[in-house]
Amino acid sequence: MIPELFKQCDCPRARWPKCDHPFHFRKQVQGRRWKVSLDAWLGHHDVRSVGEAEAVAADMLAAMRSGTFSPLGPRPRQDPDGPYDIHAEITQIKTLVQEALRDVRAIRQRMDNGGTS
Ligand SMILES: [Zn+2]
Repeated sequence: MIPELFKQCDCPRARWPKCDHPFHFRKQVQGRRWKVSLDAWLGHHDVRSVGEAEAVAADMLAAMRSGTFSPLGPRPRQDPDGPYDIHAEITQIKTLVQEALRDVRAIRQRMDNGGTS
């Protein structure tokens, strides 16, 4: 198993390839220290084989070295066709909520004024 991979469970290291706990990846690249859960990074929860974990780790490492690594997932955030972007989603939701609140206030104001227009 490559040294960048580790687990946070209480099992002895020798058991890691077999035990049912999630893999994590830890590496310092160009002065940045990364620590990422493989499952969270991929967005699912089934990386349990060493082979698969090492393949994912290799992808992470390549992205880190090329400067395109995002802790949010395998594909860079600026990809327009791509992946789910949690920050964009949050901004969008905030905007929607603000608009909805504005509407509610406007309706209340109209009701308070006793008008129906
Ligand atoms: Zn374990």
